[in-house]
Amino acid sequence: MGMHERDYVEDAFRTNWIAPLGANVDGFEQELADYAGAGGAVALSSGTAAIHMALRLIGIERGDRVFVSTLTFIASVNPILYEGGEPVFIDSDRDSWNMSATALEQAFEDAQLIGRMPKAVIVVNLYGQSADMDPINEICARYGVPVIEDAAESLGATYKNKASGTLSRFGIYSFNGNKIITTSGGGMLVSDDLEALAKARFYATQARDQALHYEHTQVGFNYRMSNILAGIGRGQLRVLDDRVNARREVFERYAKAFESLEGVAMMPEASYGRANRWLTAMTIDKHVTGLTPPELISRLNEANIEARPVWKPMHLQPLLRQYAYYRHSSEESVSDSLFEEGICLPSGSSLTQDEQDRVIDVIVGSLQQAKRAVAQ
Ligand SMILES: *Cc1c(COP(=O)(O)O)cnc(C)c1O
Repeated sequence: MGMHERDYVEDAFRTNWIAPLGANVDGFEQELADYAGAGGAVALSSGTAAIHMALRLIGIERGDRVFVSTLTFIASVNPILYEGGEPVFIDSDRDSWNMSATALEQAFEDAQLIGRMPKAVIVVNLYGQSADMDPINEICARYGVPVIEDAAESLGATYKNKASGTLSRFGIYSFNGNKIITTSGGGMLVSDDLEALAKARFYATQARDQALHYEHTQVGFNYRMSNILAGIGRGQLRVLDDRVNARREVFERYAKAFESLEGVAMMPEASYGRANRWLTAMTIDKHVTGLTPPELISRLNEANIEARPVWKPMHLQPLLRQYAYYRHSSEESVSDSLFEEGICLPSGSSLTQDEQDRVIDVIVGSLQQAKRAVAQ
């Protein structure tokens, strides 16, 4: 937490305005919309709920197809399944690890041939870096299909000087405990379409029609953020830029320390924007280093350091195997390679230099040891 969260929360207590909604919710929505340069914002109970609302607003129904990045967390996909939709998974490119425009184009061409066009495309901004939105938006516009930007991990990042999450019809952010700023749990839907946002507020408060009595003509959800959590969010928003800088510094120190290691590559930063470096991710080529990511992760665990593989792609998940998948090229599934070679390092904004040095020492030591073993 920063310096101001408690003040906003105490304000909610002082006015006895704990829930539902209240001044902090309105304030958080306005402040986030201003920060991102979005027309408006709706504070919700999670990023997952925000994706669900975006799909509802676009009108996804049973049997509708939705194209979605395969290299992501399951929350990008679950809301498609809530509506009975059919996800179609799109591979990553090497430059950004995000949705490959080549694979997307291929998926659209096939969809047109079989007469089964998607109703929406969900583009994920992985580990805090924007996807290359211009070509993706151009393809989707050509086919008349709206785009939802899953910016759960990329709040504070930019794409061509615009805030990540504001490049398409809808954007969503997450304030889950693991994200760059947090309300303990929460999310936000942003858009320039204020009418759509008003509808999202309606659906997210049980779709209660205008009437003195409780009148309902549509299915609704209980998805709004409480005034307490929004207070935390207002305070967190004030430290967001510091957090981005801190995480970028963490990344830079790792990158510098691993510069000379053969077979090790940091997640690239595409030239079109500035990542928030939510997580520092890198790849290790086992053929060069003699070490696989699970082996390195277990070395780190032995030193009481937690690290994780890169997200397991959605097209490899047992839950989702029956759905179509489009790879970047016939020779390569980029997301499969990134999953096999990728590792996410401790990246918290409060990580001290000593702690980071400890991580670096274990990694450099493990790689040197593996290299000696390969040489023998
Ligand atoms: C965290 C995350 C979400 C979901 O956000 P919640 O607030 O946890 O529901 C969605 N997409 C991605 C890519 C995420 O990392």
